[in-house]
Amino acid sequence: MDARIDDRQEGMLPAASIRQALEQVRLRCVACRAFYPVLEPGRTARYRCNCGEVLDVEIPLRLPASLPTSSGSAPLDRDPAAAWRQLFAERAALVPGAPGASIVQRSGVWRYRELILPLPDEAIISRAEGNTTLYAVGSDQQQETQASPGLRRIGDYAGLAQLYLKHEGENPTGSFKDRGMVVGVTMARLMGARAVACASTGNTSASLASYAALAGLQALVFLPAGQVAGGKLAQTLAYGARMIQVNGDFDAAMLLVEQVCDELGIYLLNSLNPFRVEGQKAIAFELLQQLNWQAPDWLVLPAGNLGNTSALGKAFLQARMLGLISRLPRLAAIQAAGANPFYLSYREGFVRRHAVQAHTVASAIKIGNPVSYSRARLVIQECSGVVEEVSDPEILEAKAVIDRAGIGCEPASAATVAGIRKLVRAGIIKPSERVVAILTGNLLKDHQTGIPRAETVSIDPDLASVRRTLDALGPLTSPS
Ligand SMILES: [Zn+2]
Repeated sequence: MDARIDDRQEGMLPAASIRQALEQVRLRCVACRAFYPVLEPGRTARYRCNCGEVLDVEIPLRLPASLPTSSGSAPLDRDPAAAWRQLFAERAALVPGAPGASIVQRSGVWRYRELILPLPDEAIISRAEGNTTLYAVGSDQQQETQASPGLRRIGDYAGLAQLYLKHEGENPTGSFKDRGMVVGVTMARLMGARAVACASTGNTSASLASYAALAGLQALVFLPAGQVAGGKLAQTLAYGARMIQVNGDFDAAMLLVEQVCDELGIYLLNSLNPFRVEGQKAIAFELLQQLNWQAPDWLVLPAGNLGNTSALGKAFLQARMLGLISRLPRLAAIQAAGANPFYLSYREGFVRRHAVQAHTVASAIKIGNPVSYSRARLVIQECSGVVEEVSDPEILEAKAVIDRAGIGCEPASAATVAGIRKLVRAGIIKPSERVVAILTGNLLKDHQTGIPRAETVSIDPDLASVRRTLDALGPLTSPS
């Protein structure tokens, strides 16, 4: 299983163009700001600074040498922001599934590769991830909702006239994790790894297993015993990963996998891996492009391990630096009240880091000691962010509203809408503000949580029996 650089298989070493691309990438400690190259002789990969803190990827944000030219001979070099927008517009204009479309045209991650990880085509893999829907659900968005009154009920519930839901559950394996994983697995292959591993509450394991299979790598998944949703287990096994259940919670599995990867030279693909965080930035770039580069007032997301909070904050800061947007959205990170270490730190002005025993129905954010705490703290401060907590009953009530609108999501995702409702009522988010919330996962995760009980009646196959049953269930009403 050893995959250290020195004993890579023949032919696995990066080709010259890939090596050149990787040499431009640096890893920077979020605490002491020490720098490390990606290609360090004698080691597979580095996930932490020598001081113990997590690392951040730094790349030169450069426009590609050959820019699109279809709109004539405008001097785009004098307006770099316009050149970036045109580049992304031309790539997105191609039909994602069309035969012959290149990876950068099909993928909602690699479309932005110059802002994520600028690699040549031959180095990268893809399942056309991303390209997820931005649903307009505000109570005052009739034009955008296109006669979908079900959607507007979510805006009414949240108390907002302009609310968008970016549904990351529409990714290939059913969660936002695919965005970071496609970048992480691409890196694993370039680093010559033969095996990849993660600890997971379900979404990450399914994503890792899928992309590892695509890349021809063995996947090893550590799960907290008895705490992972059945559908996610099925996906993980079907894609061919080896699964090890750990007697303990997610945080225990996370500690273990880091030791295992160090010891056995396996490439670690938890969100401790800074390239996963880079891929997740694509959520922000894609939603900004869908909003025609008009930043919303708020970006609201569920907060567990804090990789997503870190990634979106970093992406917004970069988008402003490049002139793609003129101002930053404020971030609102929503935790479950039973898994709220980041909220506890926020409430104290981040004077210290907390760890808790996590208890919540929202399995995807059931995390007591978040890995990306330091990264996330910085972006909350830079983006004038807030951290809020919501109870499990509040999460399940919001989930029912999202489900009944015909969209649906996993419980953790519903923490966003529950959090918005609470922040609007507290006067922190103004009812007139434009808000985007991220739904992180598909309804089929935790499919036994917060779902109405099925009617178990069975009937004889005749019309009279149907009439009798419908009368008993209550009259059919038309939607309001
Ligand atoms: Zn350091």
